[in-house]
Amino acid sequence: MIKSGRSPEGRGVGSALVTTLPGDGPVTSTMSVPPPPPAPRGRRALLRAALGGTAALGAGLGLAPAPTNAAPAPDRPRPDRSRPATPEAALRELAHGNGRWRAEHQAHPHETATARVAAVSGQHPFALILGCIDSRVPPELIFDQGLGDLMTVRSAGEVLDEAVLGSVAYGVLELGIPLVMVLGHQSCGAVAAAVRAEESGERPPAHIDYIAQRIRPAIDHGSTGAARIDATITANVRHVRGLLAAEPDLAARVAAGRLAIVGARYELGSQRVRRVA
Ligand SMILES: [Zn+2]
Repeated sequence: MIKSGRSPEGRGVGSALVTTLPGDGPVTSTMSVPPPPPAPRGRRALLRAALGGTAALGAGLGLAPAPTNAAPAPDRPRPDRSRPATPEAALRELAHGNGRWRAEHQAHPHETATARVAAVSGQHPFALILGCIDSRVPPELIFDQGLGDLMTVRSAGEVLDEAVLGSVAYGVLELGIPLVMVLGHQSCGAVAAAVRAEESGERPPAHIDYIAQRIRPAIDHGSTGAARIDATITANVRHVRGLLAAEPDLAARVAAGRLAIVGARYELGSQRVRRVA
């Protein structure tokens, strides 16, 4: 399902330029306002049923049983003019939220009792963050977002597999999310493990080797030591972003101006998120 080709959006993948998010600098994207997403049918309807069914997700958790007469909660996007609807607006909101986080002036949006009640009737997140599992990089915190704002998909080293890809596809194709951000971070242990595995020739234990193998194509061979790990963190973001951008369904949305797929990295020291071009 993952192809090695590039979409028009993937032209800048090879660049070493690192820019800041909008809000910290100029916005270079020129994407237009997207039309509303088409109604689901066929394969998409099946995907939505498999991934989005609130009844199925709530079953078997050992908590209080759901009322038998409860209507299924829709999770289709619905008009909400307070939410960013374009890639540019979504990037601006993320930049503003990261600014609040850095300044320790968080707004903690959409956490109130009212927001929790409103969330029952549906979700319409404005951005999807594909990030690492690292406990120091929770997207909702570092972008100061609340309930229903972000769809987050996390795997060690933000590597792709079919489950991760299906999760991203669900957010974009079924919920109409206009922005996907691949988010790496400073001092990524998964990337460091992949680099050390290649240097030593020793395979990491158990399923960690699966992660290392998927990071391996991004390993930077123009540097050594800590610099190699840091360069690989950025290269891995570009690599994953390029794989996503080459997905036909996602590339079609990018070409239509309805989606942006961007790379970024979070610096633990400064708490700043920077675009990776
Ligand atoms: Zn990590």
